[in-house]
Amino acid sequence: MKTFVNDSREPGSQVTSGSQRVLVVEDEPDIAALIGYQLTRAGFRVETTLNGIEALRAVGRDIPDLIVLDRMLPGISGDEVLGRLKDDPETEGVPVLVLTAKKEQEERIAGLELGADDYLTKPFSPRELVLRVQAILRRAPESGGGSAGLRVFRVGAIHMDVSAMQVSVLDEDISLTPTEFRLLRALLECRERTLSRRQLLEKAWDVEADVSDRLETRTVDMHVQRLRAKLGTAGDSIQTVRGFGYRLKKDLE
Ligand code: CA
Repeated sequence: MKTFVNDSREPGSQVTSGSQRVLVVEDEPDIAALIGYQLTRAGFRVETTLNGIEALRAVGRDIPDLIVLDRMLPGISGDEVLGRLKDDPETEGVPVLVLTAKKEQEERIAGLELGADDYLTKPFSPRELVLRVQAILRRAPESGGGSAGLRVFRVGAIHMDVSAMQVSVLDEDISLTPTEFRLLRALLECRERTLSRRQLLEKAWDVEADVSDRLETRTVDMHVQRLRAKLGTAGDSIQTVRGFGYRLKKDLE
Protein backbone atom coordinates (compact mmCIF):
# COMPACT_ATOMS: atom_id res chain seq x y z
CA MET A 1 0.00 0.00 0.00
CA LYS A 2 1.26 3.38 -0.95
CA THR A 3 -0.17 6.82 -0.44
CA PHE A 4 0.93 10.19 -1.66
CA VAL A 5 0.32 12.88 0.89
CA ASN A 6 -1.01 16.12 -0.48
CA ASP A 7 0.92 15.76 -3.70
CA SER A 8 -1.16 17.16 -6.50
CA ARG A 9 1.53 16.98 -9.19
CA GLU A 10 0.95 14.85 -12.23
CA PRO A 11 3.25 11.82 -12.48
CA GLY A 12 6.36 12.68 -14.42
CA SER A 13 5.86 16.42 -14.11
CA GLN A 14 8.85 18.62 -13.43
CA VAL A 15 9.58 19.21 -9.78
CA THR A 16 10.86 22.60 -8.73
CA SER A 17 14.42 22.47 -7.47
CA GLY A 18 13.39 23.47 -3.96
CA SER A 19 11.06 20.52 -3.60
CA GLN A 20 12.93 17.53 -2.23
CA ARG A 21 11.43 14.07 -2.04
CA VAL A 22 11.17 12.25 1.27
CA LEU A 23 10.12 8.63 1.53
CA VAL A 24 8.47 7.80 4.85
CA VAL A 25 8.47 4.13 5.91
CA GLU A 26 6.18 3.69 8.91
CA ASP A 27 3.60 0.96 9.52
CA GLU A 28 1.50 2.93 12.01
CA PRO A 29 -0.91 4.86 9.73
CA ASP A 30 -1.53 7.69 12.21
CA ILE A 31 2.18 8.37 12.69
CA ALA A 32 2.85 8.02 8.97
CA ALA A 33 0.09 10.53 8.22
CA LEU A 34 1.36 12.96 10.85
CA ILE A 35 4.92 12.80 9.54
CA GLY A 36 3.66 13.19 5.98
CA TYR A 37 1.56 16.18 6.91
CA GLN A 38 4.40 17.97 8.71
CA LEU A 39 6.95 17.33 5.97
CA THR A 40 4.51 18.40 3.27
CA ARG A 41 3.81 21.61 5.18
CA ALA A 42 7.57 22.18 5.34
CA GLY A 43 7.70 22.02 1.54
CA PHE A 44 8.79 18.45 0.91
CA ARG A 45 7.22 16.02 -1.52
CA VAL A 46 6.30 13.05 0.61
CA GLU A 47 5.68 9.45 -0.32
CA THR A 48 4.56 7.09 2.42
CA THR A 49 4.93 3.32 2.51
CA LEU A 50 3.72 1.10 5.33
CA ASN A 51 6.28 -1.70 5.09
CA GLY A 52 9.83 -2.46 4.01
CA ILE A 53 9.01 -4.30 0.78
CA GLU A 54 6.92 -1.37 -0.47
CA ALA A 55 9.69 0.99 0.60
CA LEU A 56 12.34 -0.87 -1.41
CA ARG A 57 10.01 -0.94 -4.43
CA ALA A 58 9.41 2.80 -4.11
CA VAL A 59 13.17 3.42 -3.94
CA GLY A 60 13.63 1.19 -6.99
CA ARG A 61 11.19 3.32 -8.98
CA ASP A 62 12.61 6.68 -7.97
CA ILE A 63 15.41 7.32 -5.49
CA PRO A 64 14.28 9.86 -2.87
CA ASP A 65 16.42 12.63 -1.41
CA LEU A 66 15.95 11.25 2.11
CA ILE A 67 14.24 8.33 3.82
CA VAL A 68 12.51 8.43 7.22
CA LEU A 69 12.63 4.80 8.30
CA ASP A 70 10.91 3.20 11.28
CA ARG A 71 12.95 0.34 12.76
CA MET A 72 9.99 -1.76 13.84
CA LEU A 73 8.16 -2.84 10.71
CA PRO A 74 6.13 -5.92 9.86
CA GLY A 75 7.85 -8.33 7.48
CA ILE A 76 11.35 -7.12 6.85
CA SER A 77 12.61 -4.82 9.58
CA GLY A 78 13.82 -1.26 9.22
CA ASP A 79 17.37 -2.47 9.89
CA GLU A 80 17.04 -4.93 7.03
CA VAL A 81 15.76 -2.19 4.72
CA LEU A 82 18.67 0.03 5.76
CA GLY A 83 21.15 -2.78 5.19
CA ARG A 84 19.84 -3.39 1.68
CA LEU A 85 19.94 0.33 0.86
CA LYS A 86 23.53 0.57 2.04
CA ASP A 87 24.54 -2.56 0.13
CA ASP A 88 23.36 -1.07 -3.15
CA PRO A 89 25.74 1.47 -4.77
CA GLU A 90 22.69 3.18 -6.29
CA THR A 91 21.17 3.94 -2.88
CA GLU A 92 24.01 3.83 -0.37
CA GLY A 93 24.32 7.62 -0.40
CA VAL A 94 20.65 8.33 0.33
CA PRO A 95 20.44 9.87 3.82
CA VAL A 96 18.31 7.88 6.27
CA LEU A 97 16.70 9.17 9.47
CA VAL A 98 15.80 6.19 11.65
CA LEU A 99 12.82 6.22 14.03
CA THR A 100 13.35 4.06 17.08
CA ALA A 101 11.38 3.08 20.17
CA LYS A 102 12.46 4.43 23.53
CA LYS A 103 13.81 1.26 25.08
CA GLU A 104 16.10 0.67 22.12
CA GLN A 105 17.84 3.94 22.81
CA GLU A 106 19.52 2.41 25.84
CA GLU A 107 21.22 -0.16 23.66
CA ARG A 108 23.60 0.41 20.83
CA ILE A 109 21.66 1.72 17.91
CA ALA A 110 22.12 -0.96 15.30
CA GLY A 111 20.68 1.32 12.66
CA LEU A 112 23.48 3.82 13.08
CA GLU A 113 26.02 1.05 12.70
CA LEU A 114 24.34 0.12 9.44
CA GLY A 115 24.82 3.66 8.22
CA ALA A 116 21.82 5.76 9.25
CA ASP A 117 22.55 9.49 9.27
CA ASP A 118 20.55 10.31 12.35
CA TYR A 119 17.84 8.85 14.51
CA LEU A 120 14.85 10.04 16.48
CA THR A 121 13.36 8.34 19.52
CA LYS A 122 9.61 7.87 19.70
CA PRO A 123 7.64 9.74 20.80
CA PHE A 124 9.14 12.72 18.98
CA SER A 125 7.74 16.12 18.17
CA PRO A 126 6.83 16.54 14.50
CA ARG A 127 8.70 19.83 14.56
CA GLU A 128 11.86 18.07 15.69
CA LEU A 129 11.51 15.58 12.86
CA VAL A 130 11.24 18.35 10.28
CA LEU A 131 14.30 20.09 11.74
CA ARG A 132 16.34 16.88 11.61
CA VAL A 133 15.31 16.19 8.02
CA GLN A 134 16.22 19.73 7.01
CA ALA A 135 19.57 19.51 8.83
CA ILE A 136 20.50 16.23 7.13
CA LEU A 137 19.56 17.53 3.69
CA ARG A 138 21.54 20.73 4.19
CA ARG A 139 24.62 18.59 4.68
CA ALA A 140 23.93 16.22 1.82
CA PRO A 141 25.62 17.00 -1.50
CA GLU A 142 23.35 18.96 -3.87
CA SER A 143 23.57 16.32 -6.57
CA GLY A 144 22.06 13.68 -4.30
CA GLY A 145 22.82 9.99 -4.71
CA GLY A 146 26.33 8.62 -4.91
CA SER A 147 27.33 10.50 -1.77
CA ALA A 148 29.08 7.47 -0.34
CA GLY A 149 30.63 8.00 3.06
CA LEU A 150 28.18 10.63 4.21
CA ARG A 151 27.89 10.26 7.94
CA VAL A 152 26.49 12.66 10.48
CA PHE A 153 26.70 12.05 14.20
CA ARG A 154 24.76 13.93 16.81
CA VAL A 155 25.34 13.06 20.44
CA GLY A 156 24.15 15.55 23.01
CA ALA A 157 25.65 18.91 22.11
CA ILE A 158 28.25 17.37 19.81
CA HIS A 159 27.65 17.29 16.09
CA MET A 160 30.04 15.72 13.57
CA ASP A 161 29.76 15.79 9.81
CA VAL A 162 32.30 13.22 8.66
CA SER A 163 32.22 14.02 4.96
CA ALA A 164 32.69 17.74 5.59
CA MET A 165 35.25 17.07 8.37
CA GLN A 166 33.31 19.46 10.59
CA VAL A 167 32.63 19.27 14.30
CA SER A 168 30.47 21.65 16.28
CA VAL A 169 29.38 21.93 19.89
CA LEU A 170 26.09 23.72 20.43
CA ASP A 171 26.35 24.88 16.80
CA GLU A 172 29.76 26.48 17.39
CA ASP A 173 32.36 25.06 15.01
CA ILE A 174 35.46 23.74 16.72
CA SER A 175 38.83 23.03 15.19
CA LEU A 176 40.31 19.56 15.69
CA THR A 177 43.52 17.98 14.47
CA PRO A 178 43.02 14.97 12.16
CA THR A 179 43.91 12.64 15.03
CA GLU A 180 41.47 14.31 17.41
CA PHE A 181 38.84 14.10 14.70
CA ARG A 182 39.38 10.36 14.23
CA LEU A 183 39.41 9.84 17.99
CA LEU A 184 36.09 11.65 18.41
CA ARG A 185 34.65 9.80 15.44
CA ALA A 186 35.60 6.46 16.99
CA LEU A 187 33.91 7.46 20.26
CA LEU A 188 30.80 8.71 18.44
CA GLU A 189 30.56 5.56 16.35
CA CYS A 190 30.67 3.42 19.49
CA ARG A 191 28.67 5.75 21.72
CA GLU A 192 27.71 4.31 25.10
CA ARG A 193 30.19 1.49 24.57
CA THR A 194 33.56 1.55 26.25
CA LEU A 195 36.58 1.50 23.97
CA SER A 196 39.92 0.33 25.30
CA ARG A 197 43.00 2.46 24.70
CA ARG A 198 44.17 -0.23 22.33
CA GLN A 199 40.96 -0.01 20.31
CA LEU A 200 41.23 3.76 20.19
CA LEU A 201 44.84 3.53 18.99
CA GLU A 202 43.80 1.20 16.23
CA LYS A 203 40.85 3.35 15.18
CA ALA A 204 42.34 6.82 15.48
CA TRP A 205 45.99 6.14 14.69
CA ASP A 206 45.48 3.13 12.46
CA VAL A 207 48.24 1.19 14.22
CA GLU A 208 48.43 -2.29 15.65
CA ALA A 209 48.71 -1.38 19.30
CA ASP A 210 50.68 -3.23 21.93
CA VAL A 211 48.66 -2.93 25.13
CA SER A 212 51.75 -3.30 27.25
CA ASP A 213 53.27 -0.19 25.76
CA ARG A 214 52.74 2.50 28.36
CA LEU A 215 53.93 5.21 26.02
CA GLU A 216 51.18 4.41 23.52
CA THR A 217 48.43 4.33 26.12
CA ARG A 218 49.66 7.64 27.49
CA THR A 219 49.45 9.03 23.96
CA VAL A 220 45.77 8.16 23.90
CA ASP A 221 45.22 9.75 27.31
CA MET A 222 46.97 12.93 26.22
CA HIS A 223 44.88 13.28 23.07
CA VAL A 224 41.66 12.55 24.96
CA GLN A 225 42.54 15.34 27.40
CA ARG A 226 43.10 17.78 24.53
CA LEU A 227 39.91 16.67 22.82
CA ARG A 228 37.93 17.15 26.04
CA ALA A 229 39.33 20.65 26.44
CA LYS A 230 38.42 21.59 22.86
CA LEU A 231 34.88 20.26 23.30
CA GLY A 232 34.39 22.63 26.23
CA THR A 233 31.18 21.95 28.10
CA ALA A 234 30.58 18.82 26.02
CA GLY A 235 34.00 17.45 26.97
CA ASP A 236 32.58 15.82 30.08
CA SER A 237 30.62 13.44 27.88
CA ILE A 238 33.89 11.59 27.23
CA GLN A 239 34.11 9.46 30.34
CA THR A 240 37.11 7.62 31.68
CA VAL A 241 36.40 3.97 32.43
CA ARG A 242 39.01 3.16 35.05
CA GLY A 243 41.52 0.52 34.04
CA PHE A 244 39.98 0.05 30.63
CA GLY A 245 39.51 3.07 28.40
CA TYR A 246 36.94 5.65 27.41
CA ARG A 247 33.38 5.94 26.33
CA LEU A 248 31.13 8.69 25.08
CA LYS A 249 28.09 9.15 27.25
CA LYS A 250 25.05 10.39 25.42
CA ASP A 251 23.21 12.03 28.28
CA LEU A 252 24.90 13.48 31.31
CA GLU A 253 21.64 13.76 33.23
CA1 CA B 1 6.50 0.51 13.65
